[in-house]
Amino acid sequence: MPASAPGVIIVDLDRIADNWRALQHHVGSAVAAAVVKADAYGLGARQVIPALARAGASVFFVATLDEAIEARALLGDGPAVLVLDGLLPGTAPDMLQAGAWPVLSTREEIAEWSELARAHDRALPCALHIDTGLNRLGLPVGDLRTLVSTPGRLDGLELRLVMSHLACADEPGHPMNSRQRALFDELRALLPPTAASLAASDGLMLGPDFHYAMVRPGYALYGGQAFQGGGTPVEPVVAAYARILQVRTAAPPATVGYSATYQVPELTRLATISAGYADGIRRAASSASGTAPAGVAAIDGVEVPFVGRVSMDLVTLDVGRLRTPPRRGDLVELLGPSLPLERVGAGAKTIGYEILTSLGRRFHRIYLGDDAPPPDGP
Ligand SMILES: *Cc1c(COP(=O)(O)O)cnc(C)c1O
Repeated sequence: MPASAPGVIIVDLDRIADNWRALQHHVGSAVAAAVVKADAYGLGARQVIPALARAGASVFFVATLDEAIEARALLGDGPAVLVLDGLLPGTAPDMLQAGAWPVLSTREEIAEWSELARAHDRALPCALHIDTGLNRLGLPVGDLRTLVSTPGRLDGLELRLVMSHLACADEPGHPMNSRQRALFDELRALLPPTAASLAASDGLMLGPDFHYAMVRPGYALYGGQAFQGGGTPVEPVVAAYARILQVRTAAPPATVGYSATYQVPELTRLATISAGYADGIRRAASSASGTAPAGVAAIDGVEVPFVGRVSMDLVTLDVGRLRTPPRRGDLVELLGPSLPLERVGAGAKTIGYEILTSLGRRFHRIYLGDDAPPPDGP
């Protein structure tokens, strides 16, 4: 780690590969795809995608066309790359050129892909996303019924996958899970037979009935364990540390940070670290006097609370409870062995997903794993 780096993120590529293998093992004969959208959940597509391919993943989901182009360049010709956002208007030729399959969700996208197929005089591979209750993306039920009852509407579509997405998969007892599954079965029966996929990281923990031909984990690959039923067979893969810039003592009535929202209750020691909301430390992790403690960091495994407002580049910690005072330049854990993703998410009034995808834009990155590519690779 360079002496000038304000913080460091350590990503264990072997663990990510192990997590994929464990999830693939868990779903038996179903295919475990790998969701690598948003720069592999912020961990670095350029490093993570090749590591997953080496582990054996053969189907990759991204969100956008640009991400698909990057994934294709990293993967070569073999693996399938699917684009969850589908087609933006006018982008069908670029999608084809990228060698990616759009996940089609609207009648317009279906028409554009089918028109391109006609122009090329061959069927073009794609996936179809049907909505079963999330009301986000996916073909609405009425549109699906119209589509299948209109002759020729599916012409030119080489339908490789029909998929849907669960709204409440993290809650194993939620009635919406079985309701969406039943609707999915009813709707896909209207379509020509093809592979089906319903579950992401949490859904695949709901049991074999939810596995179908393919599961689509993202968060779990990166060590996330949001499933409230527990037992997700994955290990943490990422840790983040920032530096201490200054240590001081403070006594009442001293206040800490912008707007003086926190008053120290007794003589204590404060440490200010080189990370703030510009580095993905959520401002919602600020702690004011008289409210429940929010964000925490850890030093040598001991939790130390955020005090006062999180500012752009800085957070102040109350380190008064540490027996040995920390020193300028020491590293403080923000996420890692003592602070799992879910804990950090809760401290910032958000979820681990948001922590993962926003952490450490200015931090130095270290990739662990035998196959880690050189820092300035492809
Ligand atoms: C992001 C996404 C996934 C992966 O979800 P995780 O909860 O990260 O496993 C799967 N399917 C769709 C449609 C998604 O948008």
